[in-house]
Amino acid sequence: MNRWIKKITSVIIMIAVLASAAGCRKTDQPAAGGTGETAGTAVSSAEEEPAAADEGTPADDNESDGEEVGPHDDGASGEKPGSGLQGMDYAAWINSDVQAFVQSTAGEEVRLEDDFHLYVNRDWIMNTELPSGYASYDPISARSMEVDGQISDILRNPEKESDPALIHDQELVQKYYKMWMDWDARNELGTEHLKELLTPLMEVDTLDELTEYLSMPRTAISATELLQCDAGINWNNADYYTVYVMPVDLIFGDSMYYEMMEESDAMAEPYYDTVIRHILVEMGYTDDEATEILKGCFAFEKDISKYIMTTEEQSARDAVVKQNNPRTMSELEAEAGDFPVRAMLAAYGADGSDTYILTEPEWLEAMDVLYDETNVENLKDYLICYTAQDYATLLDRECYDTYYEVINGISGAVGTKSDEKAAADAVNSFIPSQLGRLYADKYVTDETQQEVLAITKEILDEYRVMLAEEDFLSEETRAEAIKKLDQMQLRIAKPDKWEDDSALNITGGDEGGNLIKAQDEAGAFWISQLRDKVNQKVDRTYWTSKIQQVNAFYDPSQNCITLCGGILGGDLYNPNMSKEELFANVGDTIAHEISHAFDTTGSQFDEKGNLRNWWTEEDQKAFAARADKLAAYYDEIEPFQDVNCVGSQIEGEAIADLVAVKILLRIAGKDSSFDYDKFFRNFSESWRTITTAQSEYYTLLQDTHPLAYLRVNAVVQQFREFYDTYGIRKGDGMYLAPDQRLEVW
Ligand SMILES: [Zn+2]
Repeated sequence: MNRWIKKITSVIIMIAVLASAAGCRKTDQPAAGGTGETAGTAVSSAEEEPAAADEGTPADDNESDGEEVGPHDDGASGEKPGSGLQGMDYAAWINSDVQAFVQSTAGEEVRLEDDFHLYVNRDWIMNTELPSGYASYDPISARSMEVDGQISDILRNPEKESDPALIHDQELVQKYYKMWMDWDARNELGTEHLKELLTPLMEVDTLDELTEYLSMPRTAISATELLQCDAGINWNNADYYTVYVMPVDLIFGDSMYYEMMEESDAMAEPYYDTVIRHILVEMGYTDDEATEILKGCFAFEKDISKYIMTTEEQSARDAVVKQNNPRTMSELEAEAGDFPVRAMLAAYGADGSDTYILTEPEWLEAMDVLYDETNVENLKDYLICYTAQDYATLLDRECYDTYYEVINGISGAVGTKSDEKAAADAVNSFIPSQLGRLYADKYVTDETQQEVLAITKEILDEYRVMLAEEDFLSEETRAEAIKKLDQMQLRIAKPDKWEDDSALNITGGDEGGNLIKAQDEAGAFWISQLRDKVNQKVDRTYWTSKIQQVNAFYDPSQNCITLCGGILGGDLYNPNMSKEELFANVGDTIAHEISHAFDTTGSQFDEKGNLRNWWTEEDQKAFAARADKLAAYYDEIEPFQDVNCVGSQIEGEAIADLVAVKILLRIAGKDSSFDYDKFFRNFSESWRTITTAQSEYYTLLQDTHPLAYLRVNAVVQQFREFYDTYGIRKGDGMYLAPDQRLEVW
């Protein structure tokens, strides 16, 4: 039984509908397919997923994530949450990401030696206001706002581009932007087009009819399916694509929540009861009919959730190995039984793949049982509800406002994003590469690319020396690690080559188009791209990340780091920064991403991106012991009273945080003029965050990254340079006894 279950309240369950997929360093999932090559897998970044109505999914909005108190009634009271470990020699810090907690310390003295992150950032945390519509704010958000401004300029630019490829991209992004902003047209259309889309499904009465519906060739991602599939880099042969076959998404996100949720709980959740109900009623269902549809949807979700991995299971060390189940089509069909897996894959043109990877065999077996005449209504209800909520933000104003009222209620955010910003976000998630090419052309210079490449190479060189010196490893394993480092692909700032998207067209508002239709049109293009990859060799010159995002990634299935153009500007990067500032910002990001190649998940992939064990058994044990110590350390930290970190969930990211600073300090050590105080302060400032208690609690439960204040305090206290710079001693809050200090690499 999961340790969190007893703590779940209605608010917390609802927070689960808000996956943190918006642009921040929280999203650099270290798992395979992280760049969207296997978009839609349990191990890919939702952000990159070219799914229908991406913008409309609740899983896409952590900037406005957020109800009343959140996890604990005393969350914002004068008590010091997270101080449960005071008296022990570690982690005696308050959770200084939560503004209300820090404000409660007003008038108290804070010593640098006791809580470094709070000391450095207290004034900023106390005095910074959460922007309207945001549940959290940090330097990444600030940079994202700048990038938003640049994107707005692109979307409203009245001058026509001259390059033919850019002309096409400009037309696409501006058409979609105009349709998004045209509330008169959206209000007039209401849910009409959505209804049209769902009519064939609504007419289904029998299992055969459902099969027929699911077998209709998908020219577009027109509605939610009962499985997810995508072409992604084959974990077992990284030169080629394979087709990943994956479970459906659940409305409340983590399958763990369904374990203790009964029908009456779900029906009372505002996301079900308000958002989806509102759309159903607007579509013409009576309130009672809507209730029945919601109940049917929940019944299916509850049944299938038992066979879908929880977030905790998905972030476990063995998750990738468990999900790597190569299959042939006939093997899939045998396991799927009555569930028409071949027909559904054929509907996407993905039935001719030589190989498949079935990520969750138990789910497929369960679908065999659930795909039954007696269940037709529930299956239909799920498809209707999921599709309805998926499009919630693309419908009329009432649907849109209802959605955000509920989402703000959950995340604690106050106010709303401007339409301008929301429209830009919508374009950004709908046709990201088209916007990206325009962004690269205007805002990402070759000079930036060259400068950042040079810093990256300096960091890689130090990694090579460090790996060669790792005396806890055998010669053999060290050689493999260095080979992996040397073959790492570097994607810095912007790509040289862009995919041909001339076949992608959308109908503009003045040509009879609308936002839902545009999703269909773009969906047809994405599905054709999927089909074109089946059985094909991977072309690694193409990028799969949105370059305009303020983020960076490591993708183990390609052994590749990506630093997006968006992150290389503003306060995060400029060429005039001092070495200390560069290291604290872009240097840390680069070193962090590289280290994902060697964290507990990344290290299971080889230099080409194959899931191949290149470790000797003994070395693997030694590495696991070091990672276990790190996980156990985080397990003891208590960011909210009685709620601890889950070390196993965040270990990959925590390892990356730790190794990044280690590498930077190794380089710094060669420079006698390096100003450590300046570096550590800038580093701490780069992670300063204000957030609502609700949003923070959600991050703690669901995110694979440590909380921001821990990305500073729990990291710097591992290094001698920190102790030397500030004279930290036994008894200080930042002190950790030498034998307790962490070192994974
Ligand atoms: Zn990371």
